Amino acid sequence: MISHTAEKMRALVRWYYGRFRPGAVILLYHRIIELPSDPYLLSVSPQHFAEHLAIVRKQYRPISLQQLVNGLRNDKVPRRAIVITFDDGYFDNLIHAKPLLEQYDTPATVFVTPNPRADAHEFWWDTLERILLQPRPLPRILRLVTNRVSHEWRLGSAADYGPDDDARHRSWNYGRKDDPTQRHVIFRAVHQLLKALDDDERLRVLQDLAAWACLDIAVRPTHRVLSAAEMVRLADGGLVDVGAHTMTHPVLSRLSPAKQRAEIQQSKAHLEEILGQPVTSFAYPHGLKADYTEETIMIVRETGFECACAALPGIVRRGVDVHQLPRFVVRDDDGETFAKRLSTYFYD
Ligand SMILES: [Zn+2]
Repeated sequence: MISHTAEKMRALVRWYYGRFRPGAVILLYHRIIELPSDPYLLSVSPQHFAEHLAIVRKQYRPISLQQLVNGLRNDKVPRRAIVITFDDGYFDNLIHAKPLLEQYDTPATVFVTPNPRADAHEFWWDTLERILLQPRPLPRILRLVTNRVSHEWRLGSAADYGPDDDARHRSWNYGRKDDPTQRHVIFRAVHQLLKALDDDERLRVLQDLAAWACLDIAVRPTHRVLSAAEMVRLADGGLVDVGAHTMTHPVLSRLSPAKQRAEIQQSKAHLEEILGQPVTSFAYPHGLKADYTEETIMIVRETGFECACAALPGIVRRGVDVHQLPRFVVRDDDGETFAKRLSTYFYD
């Protein structure tokens, strides 16, 4: 009886929100590309992205992040509004995403890390995947020292990892509960270690890893990020807006307030110099609750960002903290699956 009443209440709340407080949805993409493997589930194929945009254009109201923030300020957010965002600033955002956004006349914001080291290195998570999960033989023992603590792993039979193993495990991703080989166990453990390190220490450990694997970690064309000139091309035309995402993509909550401030302020200043225009939006790296603090939000506000995006799922409604906007991460779903998912966001 009680659960029946609760169910009715929930239906009423859904109806009320759908009718009177419809809210907006911010979508979070990373990459528009097809890759042989994608253990972090960051990529959406260009075909699927086109299907997503067709649905957004036909059934919803695509607006820019700036329009959403203005609408929240004036209490005039259009019904069924959708904002498209990208994190990290991969090169494919320019060559695959931008032409499709233009074709469907849909605005987007791309949050980039204008790291001067980006020419020489891929993002650390991509380098890690390349070292541990590609089909090449590796030494049988891995020893790493991070912040003066030593770690040791034995690869066992997973030291040899050929095309057959690769084919079998290529669709594995980080969200899965199972680790099919010792390589996957080590990948997960080293990922956790690297995430906790500061940028210099992390680079040193990655170089140790690369030397251990006898692998040249020069940037792969498929995994490079936008150069400064390409950021300008991305913003050219005004449909795509560029926002800041720190300099080195740290876990901000692990840094001192002074270091957080430097990461946040420098990314804004650096991007404004590159683009020759104000940079008004920010996205927290990693973006979950543990990845930034109240202090981080204060610094972002004081730096002059009009809004900031997290990676926590949720609907944007009146009264939301514009320096902690929720977003739904988009996976490589076909149009039909994407449409179903989107409709549940609006009325849940
Ligand atoms: Zn990011």
